[in-house]
Amino acid sequence: FRVPVPTNEPIQGYAPGSPERASLSAKVASMSKEVPEIPLIIGGEEIRTGNVVEVTMPHNHRHVIAKAHLAGAAEVKKAIDAAEAARHDWDALPWEERAAVLLRAADLLCGPWRDTINASTMIGQSKTCHQAEIDAACEMADFFRYNASYAVQLYQEQPESSAGVWNRLEHRPLDGYVLAITPFNFTSIAGNLPTAPALMGNTAVWKPSHTALLSNYYTMKMLEAAGMPPGVINFLPGDGPTVGNVAIPDHRLGGIHFTGSTRTFQHIWKEIGDNISGYGQYPRIVGETGGKDFVFVHPSACGAREVAVALARGAFEFQGQKCSAASRAYVPKSLWPDVKEHLAEILSEMKMGDVADFSNFIGAVIDDKSFAKLKGAIDRAKDEANVEVVFGGECDDSEGYFIQPTVAVVQDPKHDLMRTEYFGPLLGLYVYDDDRVDETLELCATTSPYALTGAIFADDRYAVRKAVNTLRFAAGNFYINDKPTGAVVGQQPFGGSRASGTNDKAGSILNLLRWVSPRTIKETF
Ligand code: GLU
Repeated sequence: FRVPVPTNEPIQGYAPGSPERASLSAKVASMSKEVPEIPLIIGGEEIRTGNVVEVTMPHNHRHVIAKAHLAGAAEVKKAIDAAEAARHDWDALPWEERAAVLLRAADLLCGPWRDTINASTMIGQSKTCHQAEIDAACEMADFFRYNASYAVQLYQEQPESSAGVWNRLEHRPLDGYVLAITPFNFTSIAGNLPTAPALMGNTAVWKPSHTALLSNYYTMKMLEAAGMPPGVINFLPGDGPTVGNVAIPDHRLGGIHFTGSTRTFQHIWKEIGDNISGYGQYPRIVGETGGKDFVFVHPSACGAREVAVALARGAFEFQGQKCSAASRAYVPKSLWPDVKEHLAEILSEMKMGDVADFSNFIGAVIDDKSFAKLKGAIDRAKDEANVEVVFGGECDDSEGYFIQPTVAVVQDPKHDLMRTEYFGPLLGLYVYDDDRVDETLELCATTSPYALTGAIFADDRYAVRKAVNTLRFAAGNFYINDKPTGAVVGQQPFGGSRASGTNDKAGSILNLLRWVSPRTIKETF
């Protein structure tokens, strides 16, 4: 079996004066003037419940960009029924037909839908054009294309046979619907969580994040345009408890594909546990949750500028709202003055503001709750004698939810800023004595309950090996001399363990394996 050999979608540059910049900019402007109504889409049917919320721009929170209908309990049940009704026909299709829908969606995304998906991600989630491009366009297309190629590998996996015996492995989907609960921060993850199980023959109920409804709605429309049949993916905006209370205990639940907070994931896991004897199968639970991702700078690291760039990009791109974002750093005393000087220069050039202005590097954080949480932490840091806010610290929500990229140097390496995830542009930094490398490395490995991403900067190969060993279980994605963000599908399978999730690497064959329930068939002659 073959599908077209995938390659990573090239990132468009949107250089000043380029036609792609003019086109995307025009789309952002026109979309900002519209207020589309976002319905539920269940079994291919658009449903308007009348329970409507206004969707606003994070960087201009009085500006309404859509009105979305929300599901009540009856619609959740209807979506499950629709997913179940579509399951047999979808599963009965040869896998090529399912893969073709995703490959076509990828081509639509990289062609006529690119501006729509990028612009809606920019205005709805406050992503800059580059951040939208690497996520909503490139990563989503990569998910669709690479998953199709991994599915081919998976379907070809067959056991040995012997004389008079033919053994076969039939890669069936799960025996129940998949509930996909998706985050605001990556449109590509929102696209991947329902479609990866669907590729393997499952049907899904997709609950998008209420703070990413515009881009997620257009993603759903694009999947429909690519030929996704009715009922295979059911788009269900709604609040978490309303959807969860009906969808999680339903006996037909086959699995959960989740990205979001550790707290919500643990709650879901408990709910499933409480209902375990009522299901038709043990639901698969696949989740990617938070992180307290680190950058550890070894005294042998050469290039204070490279370190500073990695810290600034790793901690502040997309306002630090990546699960992979650097939020704690360990820098040796010998290097700190140089790193600090470079950081000062880089941060002074990072413009913050409306993402429609393509020269801005930083947009707003996603909503009022996130703003309040971050402002609280920053205000506490400013008041504390043992913490020095060396960069940033200003927060202004008069127009949009703007938080300045902030670096807080802590005296205590176990300070809250080195342990708690704030999911925003706030970096805790500990300056350690050069003769205490091993001890500090050990602290880095054990201070946080998370284990998603981390990076070491070092030139000394022994130091690199030491860090690789000491930090073995501290990160599911580990970077040597690079920032801890920006995993590329097909190159760095993504996911973490401990409190960060089940580590079922998104965009890899390991993830697709979770969406099949193989049957072994032995035939004797
Ligand atoms: N895969 C993304 C990265 O490597 C992060 C995804 C997330 O935030 O969940 O930066």
